[in-house]
Amino acid sequence: MSDYDAVVIGAGMGGLSSAAILASKGMRVLVCENTGWVGGCCSSMDLGDYRFDIGASVVELAWIIDEFFTSTGRRTADYIDFIPVDPIYGFVTEDGTRFSYPVDPDATRAVLATFSEEDARAWDRFAAIGSEIITGAFGPIMTRPFMTFTDAMKLALANPKMAAYMCYMLMNFESTLCSFFSSDRVRASMSLQSYFVGLPPALCPGYIAFLAYSEHEGIFYPRGGMIEIPKAMAKVLEECGGEIRFDARVKRVLVEGGRAAGVELADGTVIRSDRVISNINAKTLYLEHIGPDYLPGWAVKAISSYEVSIPAPMIMLGLDSEPNLDAHHTFCHTTLEEMNAIWFEDYLAKRLPDRGFMLISWPTHADPSMAPEGHHCLNLVTFAPYELAQGDWDELKEWYLDSQLDLMEKKFGLDIRDHVTVAKVNTPSDFERMYLHPRGAVYALQNDITASAFFRPRLRSRAIKGLYLTGASTHFGGGVPPTIGSGIAASGLVLEDAGA
Ligand SMILES: Cc1cc2nc3c(=O)[nH]c(=O)nc-3n(C[C@H](O)[C@H](O)[C@H](O)COP(=O)(O)OP(=O)(O)OC[C@H]3O[C@@H](n4cnc5c(N)ncnc54)[C@H](O)[C@@H]3O)c2cc1C
Repeated sequence: MSDYDAVVIGAGMGGLSSAAILASKGMRVLVCENTGWVGGCCSSMDLGDYRFDIGASVVELAWIIDEFFTSTGRRTADYIDFIPVDPIYGFVTEDGTRFSYPVDPDATRAVLATFSEEDARAWDRFAAIGSEIITGAFGPIMTRPFMTFTDAMKLALANPKMAAYMCYMLMNFESTLCSFFSSDRVRASMSLQSYFVGLPPALCPGYIAFLAYSEHEGIFYPRGGMIEIPKAMAKVLEECGGEIRFDARVKRVLVEGGRAAGVELADGTVIRSDRVISNINAKTLYLEHIGPDYLPGWAVKAISSYEVSIPAPMIMLGLDSEPNLDAHHTFCHTTLEEMNAIWFEDYLAKRLPDRGFMLISWPTHADPSMAPEGHHCLNLVTFAPYELAQGDWDELKEWYLDSQLDLMEKKFGLDIRDHVTVAKVNTPSDFERMYLHPRGAVYALQNDITASAFFRPRLRSRAIKGLYLTGASTHFGGGVPPTIGSGIAASGLVLEDAGA
């Protein structure tokens, strides 16, 4: 006898989107969440009178969020007030140069022309191909299953033009970027996006390079902080009769006769359901919460072969004055070569990089209500190893904060130290404790080509019937809209299998 039609593990974006859609179609749904809040990496926390985002700081591809609301019979605008963000990035370089890329591609072209006329012309080609890839390839698959080679063939046949762009699946990010742009400054300024899937330009798949264009289709910040997106989705879930149980850590997925049969919580509560939807790291799910005894040998081998993604330590700073920045996001940038060295020379050697790469997000630029009047919030994000040669993350928090403030001041002339009123560091160990992300992995699994598209763990498990995956571990990988898209796709499979 089932307690629910579906149990969802984790109230991240993938879990919430699938849960709310299923509830809207009449299923009895329960979401079990380890923490006391919704959203996982797309969430916010209050420190004193300041509100800080815990992970994500902006969304693009907003049509995916619209599709979520439409599939539950609702409209985004009735739930979330999205503020358009423009420019996309401000850039600060070590020689003191500053520039920014506006959302309007033509205005960005004009900025590029100040570096290189040739690169400004290349931008037109890059933007045209980027637009076609986003509409022709990403559009049809970001909210739909993409699990097999046949799915890929269907996509190619439906959009024959896409065949010409398959080369970007085979090229890496760096070679893609360099095939368009020759100026070092332009290459460096567009290298950041490779780390948005957690890999350096030399290892990241080539098609990811077009994220540098997709942002020009519009980026948005939800008024009230990133948590407003999952809060809106949780509201839809509850309006449709679904439930969320907080402080409810799932420790085991029950499997009977090769089928999912429910979950067991850390406090021993058993919840029975024929359908389990996981929004957690796929390695943890299969190897710890299910266990090799319940899996075929090939599945154990396959899931063990994935690497977990890079962690991203985050510093939250409250300031008593306006920072000397130009945009919602500032990329303190280094060269393309250094962006690779961060991985090959620092990350692999377990060293904290000090090469001058930092993404600063300034949410009060878009929404001043996140801080007291005249005050501001900043988030500083870098990528760094889980294990540090320098010592233990918990002991190095103060030192890390100090070193990042030093980096801002000495390399980029951004001196904010005397204006800091509140500071908090979330290290990879904090992310692991808070969200149970193994080794603090922010994008669940590494996103190289062997772990992308139909090579990533499937939305519908092949090893356990009635088990479905959502979130960064499955297709399309990390990012707020892609994980919402995974929830839309997974709920579609659940409904199809239920004959609904
Ligand atoms: C620093 C940082 C910056 C980012 N910036 C951006 C950005 O600007 N734009 C963007 O689009 N994306 C960004 N991302 C990526 C994006 O936030 C994530 O890819 C996305 O939110 C992940 O969603 P998910 O569905 O995989 O769930 P997760 O966020 O991983 O949430 C999983 C949930 O499951 C819960 N859970 C885990 N184990 C259990 C268990 N055993 N039982 C019960 N509950 C459990 C966790 O507590 C958590 O709430 C950023 C991420 C980080 C960390």
